[in-house]
Amino acid sequence: MGKTVTTELLRFIALDREPPEKRVAAARRRDFDEIYEVFAPDEAAAQASRCSQCGIPFCQVHCPLHNNIPDWLMLTASGRLEEAYEMAAATNSFPEICGRICPQDRLCEGNCVIEKGFGGVTIGAVETFITETAFASGWVKPPRPAAERGSSVAIVGAGPAGLAAAERLRGKGHRVEVYDRYDRAGGLLVYGIPNFKLDKRVVARREALLLDGGVIFHKGFALGRDATLDELRARHDAVLIATGVYKAREIALPGVGLGNLVAALDYLTASNRKGLGDAVPAFDSGALDARGKDVVVIGGGDTAMDCLRTAVRQGARSVKCLYRRDRANMPGSMREVAHAEEEGVEFIWLAAPEAFAGDEVVREVRVQRMRLGAPDSSGRQRPQPIAGSSFRLPCDLAIMALGFDPDDLPAMFAAPDLETTGWGTLKIDRATSMTNLDGVFAAGDIVRGASLVVWAIKDGRDAADSIDAWLGGVVGRTMKTVVTAA
Ligand SMILES: Cc1cc2nc3c(=O)[nH]c(=O)nc-3n(C[C@H](O)[C@H](O)[C@H](O)COP(=O)(O)OP(=O)(O)OC[C@H]3O[C@@H](n4cnc5c(N)ncnc54)[C@H](O)[C@@H]3O)c2cc1C
Ligand code: SF4
Repeated sequence: MGKTVTTELLRFIALDREPPEKRVAAARRRDFDEIYEVFAPDEAAAQASRCSQCGIPFCQVHCPLHNNIPDWLMLTASGRLEEAYEMAAATNSFPEICGRICPQDRLCEGNCVIEKGFGGVTIGAVETFITETAFASGWVKPPRPAAERGSSVAIVGAGPAGLAAAERLRGKGHRVEVYDRYDRAGGLLVYGIPNFKLDKRVVARREALLLDGGVIFHKGFALGRDATLDELRARHDAVLIATGVYKAREIALPGVGLGNLVAALDYLTASNRKGLGDAVPAFDSGALDARGKDVVVIGGGDTAMDCLRTAVRQGARSVKCLYRRDRANMPGSMREVAHAEEEGVEFIWLAAPEAFAGDEVVREVRVQRMRLGAPDSSGRQRPQPIAGSSFRLPCDLAIMALGFDPDDLPAMFAAPDLETTGWGTLKIDRATSMTNLDGVFAAGDIVRGASLVVWAIKDGRDAADSIDAWLGGVVGRTMKTVVTAA
């Protein structure tokens, strides 16, 4: 007779939290491979069995997708992996991606009831295990609709928001055409996030499934350059804008015009392209390669962490992070800070650049010590410079990771009536994901500002459901099944 659920769960007192095997830092520093292994089946079952099956699952509440975590943990602990996968996939379009790169310490795992005292359940790693098992077992299927609906939807942007929407809309029978200015699908999953956090093959595998399901991709197509928004609206019944936010924030300091002072995303994109085997002249010339250099990264978010850890792997002489607040107040995931420290990154807390100096290229950064003063309007303590505290750091590659803002989309898309918020993000009706333009929807970072993959997936799914309802509800609408060149 099979074991009952109760003997298989609630084992958090007897069993310690054990994340999957993490490669040692010395080996990690030498390559761009993912740093965690995927659980073996017995490890996943044991870790899933630690779930306390509590009455109010705070993990689920704090997961943006409200994944049914306690149930798929229970199914994993019981060895019912196909059902576990079906349950995980019911709420998440890309569980294997979230399992790898969600900041679980701030979301599901950080809110696990047994976190205090016992260590939370390794939810993300179990989610990855379930979905990798599903791929290996052939349970993951392309989106194949029961019937074609005769409607056509354009999705602009093949990041996680656009791809999640594409999967859902195609599954509901709409013709889906995804337009992206890049040559690969994935958005920041491919060109921002480094391979050591998310192997690019994991993203390519999803693209292949979408293609198999009949989603049409138009790569190298930039809205605004290759068509206006109105032209795209004329070709399709609905348009979803999921173009992300890419305008790098800058700081005005003496010396910012010097060479070898680069934007984080330029640096990461070059590294990711190199890893994918592309020709990258700016990397080969050394301009975007940290090898042998004293690297200083400015910023304290996840992008900064990715730059630091990329520089380590490229063979930098030294890698330092300047952040103007302290460790407790940094926006990046603590887990990523710990990984960076293990790999040899030096963090200089409460420190901000004052000026860059050099001949044609940067040679040093003048840094000022900071202290935290009274809270500002956001409630965070405002950093204030400490007079006379300046010091110098040698630097021959400075990477600015200060965050991103949206581009001016109404101007870019020749759509002056497209409404934006005060921050330049697209304004939508939260209930329908529709912008002020009829049949034009938006999702992901371009609505929220720079955020997380899991939120982009949530927004993409929500927008897809709204588009589906809107298309179904528009009585007498003439569907535009125009075939455009791929
Ligand atoms: C370096 C870095 C590391 C990150 N690490 C993490 C992490 O570990 N975990 C996490 O959850 N989140 C992380 N994020 C955030 C996460 O990547 C984003 O929140 C998420 O990718 C947003 O998804 P999106 O689909 O809205 O936009 P994007 O992923 O930015 O995709 C937008 C797509 O639109 C395309 N596009 C833009 N303009 C046009 C146009 N005019 N015409 C056609 N196509 C266009 C782009 O080429 C791109 O493919 C990270 C971000 C960065 C920059
Ligand atoms: S999607 Fe992210 S937050 Fe939700 S359960 Fe998975 S890892 Fe946790």
